[in-house]
Amino acid sequence: MNMPSTQKPYDAIVIGAGVAGAAIIKALKNNNIDNFLVIDGAPGPGQGTSGHGFALCHPYIGRGASRLQRLTMLAFKEARQIWGDYWSGTGVLHLPRDPKTFSKSYMSERLLSQGFSLDNAKPLEPEESLGITGVPLAGTFFPEGGWIDLKQITQDHFAALEEKQKKWDCLVTKILHKDKHWHVYGVNGELIGFAKRLYLANALGARTVAASVGIDFPLKPVRGQLSTFSYASDSSWARFKPTVAISGKAYCLPPVNQAGNRAYQWPVGSTYDENEDDLSVWDKSHNENQMLIQEMFGDVCEANELQPIDAFVGVRCVAKDRLPVMGPIKGYPGLYVLTALGSRGVMWSALACQMYSEHLAEELRHSAFFDERFFAGARLAGAGLSDDLASALLPARFLAGTSNSKPIFPSG
Ligand SMILES: Cc1cc2nc3c(=O)[nH]c(=O)nc-3n(C[C@H](O)[C@H](O)[C@H](O)COP(=O)(O)OP(=O)(O)OC[C@H]3O[C@@H](n4cnc5c(N)ncnc54)[C@H](O)[C@@H]3O)c2cc1C
Repeated sequence: MNMPSTQKPYDAIVIGAGVAGAAIIKALKNNNIDNFLVIDGAPGPGQGTSGHGFALCHPYIGRGASRLQRLTMLAFKEARQIWGDYWSGTGVLHLPRDPKTFSKSYMSERLLSQGFSLDNAKPLEPEESLGITGVPLAGTFFPEGGWIDLKQITQDHFAALEEKQKKWDCLVTKILHKDKHWHVYGVNGELIGFAKRLYLANALGARTVAASVGIDFPLKPVRGQLSTFSYASDSSWARFKPTVAISGKAYCLPPVNQAGNRAYQWPVGSTYDENEDDLSVWDKSHNENQMLIQEMFGDVCEANELQPIDAFVGVRCVAKDRLPVMGPIKGYPGLYVLTALGSRGVMWSALACQMYSEHLAEELRHSAFFDERFFAGARLAGAGLSDDLASALLPARFLAGTSNSKPIFPSG
C-alpha cells in the first residue's frame, strides 16, 4: 500500500457543512463512527444555502399519489423527528392553485386518496380558516407543519464536533480512489485526507468534485430571494393577522409586531430564477415577492405598502427531475452523495439521515460496500418506502451505463 506516512485514514470524510452534511454526520454518529472529517470551502458551517433562517416544511399535495407526494409524506414525518428540536410555528396553510374552484369535499376526497388523514391535512373554507389561521383564505391546513432555522441546525451540529473533526476554508478540487481509499485534494493539489467512505454533501459543488472521477450529475442552480418586508400598523396589510405560515404562489410566516415603533416585519418569499447564481439582493426580486403575496391575499392590499428591509438570497441545487440525489454511487464503492435538495432541504435531509443510518449499519454488519443497493431499513419500508420510491432517489438514475439499482430492504 502506498499511503502517505504522516496521515492516518479517516473512517469517513464528508464534503459540505450545510444541512446535508449535518444529516450525514448524524448518520455516522448513529453508527458510532467518530473518526471522520467534515470539510467546507467556507469559513464556517451553514454559509451556503443552509444560511436560510425560515425554511418551511409541509408535505406536498400532488394531483395523484405521485412519487414526489409519497416521498414528501414520508420525509415530513422524518423531518418532525430528526429536526424536531428546531421546529417553529403552529401549522402551515397551503393555498389551492385556484381559490375560486376550491371545494372542501373535493379536497377531502383528494387528500384521503393520497393517504393523508384529515386530522393532519385539514381542508378549510375561508370562514373556518379565519378562526384557525387568522386569515379568511381557503386551503389545506397542516397543523404539524412549521419552519426551521437551517443555519442554527448547522451551527449546533458542527460546533459540537471536536476541532480535529472539521476543516473550514478548505475547497476540495478533486478526489481519487486508490489503495481502497478515497483521497481528497485541495486547491493546490495537496492531500486533505483519505477515507474508505466519502460523502459528497456539497450541493452544486458535488458536480465538480464528482466530475474529477468521471461522474456527471445533471445539477443546476436556481437562485431564490426571501424578502423581509416592513409595513405600518395602519397599512392595508395590518387587517390580516396570519398566525401560521402560509404557502401558495409564495410563502410567508406570521408577521412580527415590533415593540416600540408599531411596524410589522414580515418574511415573504421566494423567487425562483433558474440557472442564476448571483447572491446579491435584487430589487426585481423584492418586487416579485410583493406581487406574489398580493395575489395570494386577493389583491385587497397595496403591494407598495410593503417596504423591503432585509433579504436572504441563496442558490438551490436542483436535479433535472426535481428529486434529491442521494445514496451510494454504483461502481464507486464507498462513494455516496446527498445533493439536489432543491426547495425541500428540511425534508430531504431528514429522510437521507434515516436512510444513510440504515445503509451504513447494513454495510458495517457485513463488512462490505453495497453500491448497487440502498438499504433503507425495515421501519421506512414498513412506512411505505417501496422499491420504486427509493430507486427514484439514487444517483444511478443519471449515470450512463447503469440501470437503476434495486434497493433491498432487510426484513427484520
Ligand atoms: C430562497 C430559498 C428559499 C428556500 N426555502 C426553503 C423552504 O422553505 N424549505 C426547505 O426545506 N428548503 C428551502 N430552501 C432550500 C434549502 O435552503 C436547501 O435545500 C438546503 O439549504 C441545501 O442544503 P445543502 O447542505 O445541500 O447545501 P448548502 O447549504 O449550500 O451546503 C453546501 C456546502 O458545501 C460547501 N461546498 C461546496 N463545494 C465545496 C467544495 N468543493 N469543497 C468544500 N466545500 C464545498 C459550501 O461551502 C456549502 O457550505 C430554500 C432555498 C432558497 C435559496
